Amino acid sequence: MIVGIDLGTTNSLVAYFSEEGPKIIPNRLGKNLTPSVVSVDEEGNVYVGETARERMSLYPDSVAMAFKRSMGTEREYTLGGRKFKPEELSSMVLRALKEDAEAYLGEEVTEAVISVPAYFDDKRRKATKRAGELAGLKVERMISEPTAAAVAYGLYDKTKDTRFLVFDLGGGTFDVSILELYHNILEVRAVAGNNYLGGEDFTEVMAKLFLQKNKLQLQNLSEKEQVRLYKQAEKAKCAINDESKVNMSFLYEEKMIEAEITAKEYEEACEELLLKIREPVKKSLSDAGLKLSDIDEVILIGGATRLSIVRDFLIRLFRKFPDTRLNPDETVALGAAVSAAMKERREEVKEVILTDVCSFTLGTEVVIEYDEGKFEDGRFCPIIERNTVIPASHTERLYTARDNQEKVRVRVLQGESRFARNNLYLGELEIEVPKGPKGQESVDVTYTYDINSLLEVEVKVVSTGLTQKLIIKGADNQMTEEEIKKRMEELAYLKIQPRDYEENRLVLLRAERMYEEALGERRKKLDRYITAFEAALKKGDHDEIMNTRRELNDVLEEDDD
Ligand code: AMP
Repeated sequence: MIVGIDLGTTNSLVAYFSEEGPKIIPNRLGKNLTPSVVSVDEEGNVYVGETARERMSLYPDSVAMAFKRSMGTEREYTLGGRKFKPEELSSMVLRALKEDAEAYLGEEVTEAVISVPAYFDDKRRKATKRAGELAGLKVERMISEPTAAAVAYGLYDKTKDTRFLVFDLGGGTFDVSILELYHNILEVRAVAGNNYLGGEDFTEVMAKLFLQKNKLQLQNLSEKEQVRLYKQAEKAKCAINDESKVNMSFLYEEKMIEAEITAKEYEEACEELLLKIREPVKKSLSDAGLKLSDIDEVILIGGATRLSIVRDFLIRLFRKFPDTRLNPDETVALGAAVSAAMKERREEVKEVILTDVCSFTLGTEVVIEYDEGKFEDGRFCPIIERNTVIPASHTERLYTARDNQEKVRVRVLQGESRFARNNLYLGELEIEVPKGPKGQESVDVTYTYDINSLLEVEVKVVSTGLTQKLIIKGADNQMTEEEIKKRMEELAYLKIQPRDYEENRLVLLRAERMYEEALGERRKKLDRYITAFEAALKKGDHDEIMNTRRELNDVLEEDDD
């Protein structure tokens, strides 16, 4: 089974193509969103998702989040005294999603179509692919997030050429993409964005308003207090969408402090952020050579597009209502699942031509004449260049280099070096040519490369029409199987938690956090229930665990503030 995965900055999701169309697969906690958060403790225990995020306020040094931002860079995160690359942290998220999908579907998941931001370059895409491989997933196809969104909305099914603007405001990133459906080909025409703008900035505005009203400075708050403040600000931000005012409170130096914030005050405070949103919209339009009025449809994705002030702003800007039929958190994953079904050539879906960019150069080895009668062999001749929109097909005509040459050998290489020996060898084929003086005979070498990493090489002798073909699968495989195996072994000391106990761990962590935040009677009460639950866990009695957990959960629910 091939699944579709949205590996997001804040949250990740996995989806599959069911009989009724694409569907999100709930995680082990029954939720659709798995926070892209990883924590590793001193003993090498790995926590992923909500459990990892819950550890943030208790053990901030053991938690990493937003590592997608550093994908493909050399940055390392130190967790529990060990170092991890962003792709390794991502692989832990992917592994959790894979396990959840397998448990839900009851079958093995071997492959995934993973979505990546449209602006992700070669390095970042390769790192994403490696993350998949480290998680035991084959990744032959990646889909850009805006394309996935358009696919999820079924926009590829339109009969007339259409232009879409995909507006993606996530937790920490903002992307605008303009797509064009033209003769059944869906192509990303322009992308623009701001890597440092997202829902979190809107949370920060709320937190600052609150501090301002209470005449407090952020730097005077302890790290834990800051985490708690942002949690409350996040809640207030989501609540204000439907209210004219919200009450926000938070425990500061053992005292509960409060403030009322009106929707109007909040909107005014966000004005600067709204102006920042306008810039990339303008840039993408001008890059695509379009006007605001040329856009036929606007699609909203990313959790922060739920903010009513953002929606209102967009309605004013585009003078039309954006398409919001799908849940903005789930759209990309659903699109990735449709793309997975297209890849599997499922009958229910029509294969549309999705485009992507080739993140490396494909070419062949040639001999060049660098001076009259002087030859140098071992040179690289690019045929499909890096960043070419794929699917792509390019032909290069090559001539015989020696007198009476009988055969032409085409070595298929991938890489950026001018010298063949420095590039990656993918395969070769040979073809017979009629004898004659050098340069008389020629062959047309055609490379056709598609979004499934399938490279078709065709060599045709121009004079005789003789043709040979070679198909190379997975031409972009960067890490060899051995390298992946080695790194997996290196990471094997990590203790991936069995998924059955996730709920227990999460409840305990939440309870510990609340215990730290609580005082007096509340604290004593929490202690009683936590102790009872821990005792049941030690005993291992299933019914007792379930009962004490439910009771503890009820106590936690009393106020999760
Ligand atoms: P994403 O990265 O797409 O998962 O988006 C996460 C961002 O969406 C976070 O900043 C959330 O605070 C924000 N978000 C999620 N739900 C809402 C909501 N109902 N109202 C406002 N913002 C939201």
